[in-house]
Amino acid sequence: MYLSLVATYDVIIIGGGLAGLTAAIHLRKESHRILLLEKETYPHHKVCGEYLSNEVVPYLLHLGIELPTQIEINTLEFSTKKGRSLQLPLPLGALGISRYALDNCLYKRAVELGVDFEFCSVESIEYKDDIFTIKNNMDRECQGKFVIGAFGKRSNLDKMLSRKFIARKSPWLGVKAHYHWPEFPDHLVGLHSFEGGYGGLSKTETGAVNFCYLVTYESFQTKQNISEFNDQVVAQNPYLATFFKKATIKFEKPLSIAQISFEAKDAVEDHIVMCGDSAGLIHPLCGNGMAMAIHSAKIASELIHLYLKKGQTTRAQLEKEYALRWHRTFGRRIRTGRRLQKLLMSPKIAELLFSLAVLSPAVLRSIIKKTHGKPIEV
Ligand SMILES: Cc1cc2nc3c(=O)[nH]c(=O)nc-3n(C[C@H](O)[C@H](O)[C@H](O)COP(=O)(O)OP(=O)(O)OC[C@H]3O[C@@H](n4cnc5c(N)ncnc54)[C@H](O)[C@@H]3O)c2cc1C
Repeated sequence: MYLSLVATYDVIIIGGGLAGLTAAIHLRKESHRILLLEKETYPHHKVCGEYLSNEVVPYLLHLGIELPTQIEINTLEFSTKKGRSLQLPLPLGALGISRYALDNCLYKRAVELGVDFEFCSVESIEYKDDIFTIKNNMDRECQGKFVIGAFGKRSNLDKMLSRKFIARKSPWLGVKAHYHWPEFPDHLVGLHSFEGGYGGLSKTETGAVNFCYLVTYESFQTKQNISEFNDQVVAQNPYLATFFKKATIKFEKPLSIAQISFEAKDAVEDHIVMCGDSAGLIHPLCGNGMAMAIHSAKIASELIHLYLKKGQTTRAQLEKEYALRWHRTFGRRIRTGRRLQKLLMSPKIAELLFSLAVLSPAVLRSIIKKTHGKPIEV
């Protein structure tokens, strides 16, 4: 039997990663009543390359978020499986910041502004007579005028909503750990490929180097475990072999996530406005997923604010406009990332691309530009 919470919120946000927390802060700053439901407590580590594109930094500062990092990244180092490498400047640049620190910093800001939090797993969402009713695993129920779905790449709620991508198996696995390797330069982000995958190396605010990779099951299953895979497959790339030789792991063991899907998703489903990975995930080699999560939350928050405060739009108009803006803002990046990933996964084409990039770095520069946005105006 479910117990009823009397409160009706303006907006209920499901998922307190970057998309959910950003939307909560933005809408609370506009004085709306916000409830955020998240299944984990803060702080916690997440599988992520932890390269935060500078395009969202002005917006985060505008929301009153103080970013705890001095690590400014402005150079990309790229290497192929055979160990050919090149460096090139990143025009926009990024900050190196762990998800442990970043998500926690947004959480603290949301609490400070008066966002209500409940730590629970949402089990169902029902929309009836213009109101959403949400039930969680603690036998509690709450109601809201709007629901933002910010529950990440893969959630029990995707099943509940019968989203198309969830029925299909995805061939990707993600692995991440922090390492002690003081020689690694602050300004660099590495993108290094190996059989069936590629990994990113960059420093975080604690000085730890984050090594995070994406790999196919087909390649991963050839070995017994992560340690064996690192030694025998990842370390075939000479750059990564040196990394494993010199660096020491700081985590008890690496974190991993399975079934990472890059399939297209709808930006609005059953009247739920989807933000961040719930609306679509860009290939990690683009280093743009966090920025997209934050930016999509801004777009959704602005439209919801217009609806709630000014009554200038209907729900149907809002949903249509959000989907349109989402595709206009992120569609090209996602498509470029998808094509790029396909090319890089073929060692022969990757070597060919590499030769092309050495001859004409403008090619690589143009690709980088197409996978990122412009700095967000605030
Ligand atoms: C291997 C890899 C490397 C990456 N590297 C980078 C990088 O270097 N730079 C970059 O910009 N992006 C990177 N990304 C992408 C980036 O991590 C994501 O795009 C970003 O985390 C999306 O944020 P989000 O808020 O949408 O989702 P998340 O951060 O995943 O948050 C979703 C939240 O929802 C919660 N949740 C789920 N279901 C429920 C439920 N039923 N009830 C309550 N809570 C629920 C989860 O606990 C979670 O906290 C990488 C991704 C991968 C896979």
